[in-house]
Amino acid sequence: MTTVPGARPAATPGPIGLPVMRLWEPSRVRFGETDRVNGTDLLTERLLRVIDEGRRSATYKLALLLALIDAAALFPGASTIPTRELAALVLASYYPQTRIYVANDGVERELRQINTKGSPPLRAALRLRLKGDAAGCRNITEAKARIPEEYARALDAVEDTFVRYPIPLLQKVGTTTIPFLYAMDWPEGTSVARLRREGRDGVSFLAGVADRLVVLGPLLRPLVELHWTRDVSRWTGVATEDDRLRAHLFGTDRVAMSRVLRSGLADLQDGACFYCGDRLSSVTQVDHFLAWSRWPNDAVENLVLADTCNGSKSNHLAASEHLARWSQRLVGRSEGLADLAASARWVTDPTRSRALIRSTYEHVPAGTPLWVSRGIFVAAEGPIAIPL
Ligand SMILES: [Zn+2]
Repeated sequence: MTTVPGARPAATPGPIGLPVMRLWEPSRVRFGETDRVNGTDLLTERLLRVIDEGRRSATYKLALLLALIDAAALFPGASTIPTRELAALVLASYYPQTRIYVANDGVERELRQINTKGSPPLRAALRLRLKGDAAGCRNITEAKARIPEEYARALDAVEDTFVRYPIPLLQKVGTTTIPFLYAMDWPEGTSVARLRREGRDGVSFLAGVADRLVVLGPLLRPLVELHWTRDVSRWTGVATEDDRLRAHLFGTDRVAMSRVLRSGLADLQDGACFYCGDRLSSVTQVDHFLAWSRWPNDAVENLVLADTCNGSKSNHLAASEHLARWSQRLVGRSEGLADLAASARWVTDPTRSRALIRSTYEHVPAGTPLWVSRGIFVAAEGPIAIPL
């Protein structure tokens, strides 16, 4: 095992005979010369240091990290991710977070994402959200569709700041850049206008990184959310209040569903449990086909109705027969799903839903337990191609 400078090696042998960490050997890693990932351990180590950075002064890097994780899943096989796409994912994180938070003490607070005064991207996100509210948009997808010019303006602000600072700074340790996620070739402070002119407005994942991010995503996301919540709590001067603040910032896995949505989903499933096919009684539950804890996605395409199968499946991946049924519904009932989203005023996003499912299943390691039915699992033989 290799450690990085600053890490303290274990001083004494482990009490239960675990191997003792070896001292770091300076000759093994040359910072600044690394142009590709030095193994999974370095990637993990660097990711954890970014997430656990003590002297963070804004949540920008965490937002960028989540955007990169999402991009890896949403654009499988893409060699370059345009900075515009990263900015869109960052803006999507901040948009709902600009809502006023009412703490347990009843005091309304604007949440702080930064330790200093002004922040152009956050002001832009707030302005967009306020205009979106005024136009009756309940989320950023609607804002993008209904007030496209405002949306583009906000995106400009986010992209400009992220190109100047977080993207060049995320991989910097001290004064040295250690590329561990992506290659990019502009110095801190560069304007996006200039990159665009020169056709360099994108970052390229290093070999193997996108795949690792898809696999590590469900593990990293809660960590990022916890640290993000802690930063906001500290800068705003409000307690984290037993996960209430985190739920406010990142949503929850409880879908507050209208009757319209529920009955529409039931119709699409002919009144039967999505998984076992038993008649749905009055005790039905909405299940995220791809569990919220793996990849948050509330789009109607990711929602199914289930009976007690829901609790049994929990956050496991559903077995391939369920995957096939889900894919069939996505394609065969696409109009029904879109109509349902419109009448229930719910989010629809078949492209994203399909990309997240595809990336997740195509990265399933052999041996992963896949949920079949109550108490029954089957081991995955390896990556699963989605039948679409
Ligand atoms: Zn069932």
